[in-house]
Amino acid sequence: MTAISRRRALLGAATLASVYPILRSRPALAQGAAGPFSLPPLPYAPDANEPSIDRMTMEIHHGRHHAAFIAGLNAAAKDHPRIAAQPIHQVLQKIGEMPEAVRGVIRNAGGGHANHAMFWTIMGGKGGAPSGDLAAAITRDLGGMDKMKADFNAAGTRVFGSGWVFVTVDAAGKLALTSRPNQDNPRMDGKMVLMGNDVWEHAYYLKYQNRRADYLAGWWNIVNWPAIEARYAAAKAGTLGV
Ligand code: MN
Repeated sequence: MTAISRRRALLGAATLASVYPILRSRPALAQGAAGPFSLPPLPYAPDANEPSIDRMTMEIHHGRHHAAFIAGLNAAAKDHPRIAAQPIHQVLQKIGEMPEAVRGVIRNAGGGHANHAMFWTIMGGKGGAPSGDLAAAITRDLGGMDKMKADFNAAGTRVFGSGWVFVTVDAAGKLALTSRPNQDNPRMDGKMVLMGNDVWEHAYYLKYQNRRADYLAGWWNIVNWPAIEARYAAAKAGTLGV
């Protein structure tokens, strides 16, 4: 193709896209809308977590990174529909029973989907502190808010490479602090996630570069404690999903 004909082809595509908006949606379809899994919408505007997390980071993190996990799951579901037959947290719990050929995508894309679906819902808040049962459990099991935050941030700082720091909760409401590499999710070893923070560089690098500790410290300002209190109640009621 000559330079001129290539330019004409590009102009033609741009014109078509402006006349037929559906053409613009093609990249979104390619990112995973076609299949049993779909990207959950952000429950707030992408700038809602400014200045702790900048708008562009939120848009790329949700619209590209999370979307890529959805695309991976949908691609895998074509040959292995079992992975879409149950909610993703149940699939993660049963990863050992799944066909070996699909365990990798369940671990990485399935774990990634679950981790991020949780992550979006526990942000968009005003920080502060929880109340009621959850506040009491943090004091009882994690030494109180100040110690919990310090230990959580330290655990997040210690993750080598990419991973997550979590507070897990059992059916009796007992809390524990833990971390996982890559996109591993505590459901894979039978634990429920109360809350967690993403310490992959994609979660913070645009604003914080290599200063992961600053990201971890600032993140508490946009934590949505009422949402986490609801997760705590759901865990004890046996209704908590991802
Ligand atoms: Mn992420």
